[in-house]
Amino acid sequence: MSRPAYDDQNIFARILRGEIPCNKVDECPHTLSFSDIQPQASVHILVIPKGSYVDMADFAAHAPAEEQAAFVAALGRVAHQVGVAESGFRLIANTGQNGHQEVPHLHMHILGGEPLGPMCPRPS
Ligand code: AMP
Repeated sequence: MSRPAYDDQNIFARILRGEIPCNKVDECPHTLSFSDIQPQASVHILVIPKGSYVDMADFAAHAPAEEQAAFVAALGRVAHQVGVAESGFRLIANTGQNGHQEVPHLHMHILGGEPLGPMCPRPS
């Protein structure tokens, strides 16, 4: 399967290289988690792999099992750390053009801390 081109100047690649600061909440050898700069809920964290993957489809097809397991583990660890594991939360991985993905480095949004309402109203 061919891979999408990865833009190493995207903002999350720059955060991973330490060129841009972030409000870090968790790190492991394969993942970094930090606060979203424009929070859409009282808790809004981004979990990203350290590897260069454009989106979830790229990650699922090409990341080694160890990196995939570390990413899932980070989601659970961070949900506990920021206090939403028991009250509930939403995971969103906007993917590609129709998914309205703005930053072309895989990221999972963890949203919570308050009732989030129904999922995804259809755009008018
Ligand atoms: P998406 O539309 O899923 O690609 O979401 C990209 C997210 O990255 C948005 O929620 C932005 O607010 C967030 N974002 C962009 N730049 C930064 C940054 N420097 N630090 C933290 N979050 C950022």
